[in-house]
Amino acid sequence: MQELKTKGLVLREVAVGEADKIITIFTEEQGKISVSARGARKPRSRFVAGTQVFAYCDFILYKGKNNWNLSQVEVIETFHNLRNDIYVLSCGIYMMELLETVGEENSPNEKLLKLTLYTLWKLANGELDPKLVLRIYEWKVMSFSGFTPEVIFCVHCGEEKEYFPFFSIPEGGVLCEECCDIDSSAKKILPGTLYTIHYILSSDLKALFQFQVSPQVLKELSVLSQAFVGYYLDKKFKTLAFIEELGSAY
Ligand SMILES: [Zn+2]
Repeated sequence: MQELKTKGLVLREVAVGEADKIITIFTEEQGKISVSARGARKPRSRFVAGTQVFAYCDFILYKGKNNWNLSQVEVIETFHNLRNDIYVLSCGIYMMELLETVGEENSPNEKLLKLTLYTLWKLANGELDPKLVLRIYEWKVMSFSGFTPEVIFCVHCGEEKEYFPFFSIPEGGVLCEECCDIDSSAKKILPGTLYTIHYILSSDLKALFQFQVSPQVLKELSVLSQAFVGYYLDKKFKTLAFIEELGSAY
């Protein structure tokens, strides 16, 4: 019987039958996998804590006929503070949806897992505006998944300029003044917003959450990153709409 020992983060849980669950885990060893957790919904089950969304655990799994089954789980971190606030909780759930969308089976991505754990920790800590935390996560996830926007050279003429007034989502990066006509849907971008994207893309984990932006830049950054994510992942995230709705009340 094939066995797998791996660290992993629970992205999603779905109730099955009377007391079982199917969980989606982003694992260190094999990327995204689906695991059946027998009896995990029974109150006294030893699987209760380790099969909830955001649980980061040491898992031991064994391969059944068609899918992985949970054999043992030891919780490392639950990010419990995320559950104290509906807004923060929704932001965390959106992160899990984003990771589930870009995550692939049999394709481990350690950078992506580390980034996600670090971002969840920052989100749970509450030091930084959750909106900014999400934008940082979005640009970084896209970049780690092969969709790095071009922010140094014009995507059309290839020239490096001091000032790029436009960002084209379909072209995947900045446009100079001379080339802005090639995409009528190109969005105006402030130098501060462009600098912020560049900073996010080029920073390592430690420096990633060490900055603040003006409300104007955060607003533009949000519009741009959500459009970028939606376009390249070809998906509308319902949780994101919910977060926006909640956000206006905050
Ligand atoms: Zn150009």
